[in-house]
Amino acid sequence: MYVVIFNFALIVSIVYCSIDWSADKNPEKWNKLARENIDEILNRKINKNVAKNIIFFIGDGMGIGTVTAGRIRKGQMMGMNGEEMVTNMESLENLALSKTYNIDAQTADSAGTGTAYLCGVKTRAGIIGLNGHAVPFNCSSSNNTKLDSILKWAHKAGKSTGIVTTTRITHATPAAAYAHAAFRDWESYDGIKFTQKIRAEGCTDIAYQLIEDNDFINVILGGGRSKFIPNTIRDPTAKSTGSRIDRKYLLREWVDKMITNNKTHKFISNASDFRSTNFSEYEHILGLLAFDHMSYEIERDDSLEPSLTEMTLKAIDLLKQNKNGYFLLVEGGRIDHGHHNNQAHKAIGDFVAFDEAIGHALKTVSLEDTLIVVTADHSHAFTIGGNSLRGNPVYGLALTSYVNVSDANLTYTSILYGNGPGGLVKIRDYNLTLNETQRPNYMQEATVYRKSATHSGEDVSVYASGPMSFMFTKTIEQNVIPHILAYSACIGPYYNDDCRNNRGALHNSNQRPINFLMFNLDHKNSALFGIIVILIKYLLFNGAFLISF
Ligand SMILES: [Zn+2]
Repeated sequence: MYVVIFNFALIVSIVYCSIDWSADKNPEKWNKLARENIDEILNRKINKNVAKNIIFFIGDGMGIGTVTAGRIRKGQMMGMNGEEMVTNMESLENLALSKTYNIDAQTADSAGTGTAYLCGVKTRAGIIGLNGHAVPFNCSSSNNTKLDSILKWAHKAGKSTGIVTTTRITHATPAAAYAHAAFRDWESYDGIKFTQKIRAEGCTDIAYQLIEDNDFINVILGGGRSKFIPNTIRDPTAKSTGSRIDRKYLLREWVDKMITNNKTHKFISNASDFRSTNFSEYEHILGLLAFDHMSYEIERDDSLEPSLTEMTLKAIDLLKQNKNGYFLLVEGGRIDHGHHNNQAHKAIGDFVAFDEAIGHALKTVSLEDTLIVVTADHSHAFTIGGNSLRGNPVYGLALTSYVNVSDANLTYTSILYGNGPGGLVKIRDYNLTLNETQRPNYMQEATVYRKSATHSGEDVSVYASGPMSFMFTKTIEQNVIPHILAYSACIGPYYNDDCRNNRGALHNSNQRPINFLMFNLDHKNSALFGIIVILIKYLLFNGAFLISF
């Protein structure tokens, strides 16, 4: 049997050997490509404008391996070999690496990281919008530990704000933009994860906070209606009742609030209503387009749910009406979920959709006044290996030109996980086939069995273009990211800073030491400065005099 399947693998490898990369043999191709890269860098203009708009893209769980596999997959979907593809996020000019650890965790979770890259302060794993003094699950510890996010900084500076995600809008990443919770699972007052006891201690759930405390947010698009509906009321689309035990119908309360505030508004719960709505006619839109999370891109029914690209573009339509500009958070939230299941088809499918949304946003805005930043909250224990041939289907078997099996004489895939539900409880004793690995639900194998795969502790990339994006360089702590965003737009901690005036003084490497000295001397020190200058001149003059003598 082994012999038969080994031959099958060999045939497959011969088919993929025929993929054409003959142009790549030519050294001139590579030298030309390198020259173009150098010219592009030399011709770059450093953009020191004050950012009017910021679009901040988060690929949840999108480690660098995911970007590589996603790039290959995207290229192969377009009929290329794949490896040479350049994704939209990779077309951005500047790049940094972000250290993702939480203050109490080497491998981070999405709540602690969300707090870092949205509120500018690192905190403990599981914590949303509270500093490191807060204790997980402890309601009273949230009293004096609340942090404002960049969404609030932008709002206070007169900008419009928005959140777009494919997860429940109360999930960790979007929640860190608006909520304060000592644990990420406090999404809804359901009596199970958020109990009567926690409520009695004075804390409120994340869905409640979105509606009651954050009615300034102009556009909110994602999934998770269940968290806003009482457990006595049936959702018309999902035909299930909501999760709330406090009888609060928060969707209705949002509408009432908008009427009281005299705002043009609309609540949207389905794709057709979403598509027929002209977002530029409204000041506020709440679109909860799924009862729970929205679907993975490869499973999405286009008639039922809009794509991440559609949501991003509609959000921009609404936000760009504000002459002061806007801040928009866009999350490709389920790359992470695919990885947790060890299902790379789902994770990478969502990566491709996320990158499409970035591409369409780039076509819509001007990088003269809009800063675009793309990063991940954390990575996953995801690898691409197996010495596969050029152009090998990225989800496929690891195929080389000489041997297509492991040392146990069995086929295996290029993509593998460190741990997760694909973990081999018992060593596999049959050969995988290409057909099997191409199934959308195929679960890649993992070394260690766990019901859900863990995140990875490695660094993630930060891609950026637009005003002040050159500040994204080096390996930085993750919490630095929103500070650079805020500095680019002179909002939040930098609102009253001289960040608007200093733009001309920055980044001139020849004159920087002198500028730096001048900049630090205020009026009360000017007399001292004068004396120092006279002293230096005197010494220089006498020195010259002595030498010439
Ligand atoms: Zn995450």
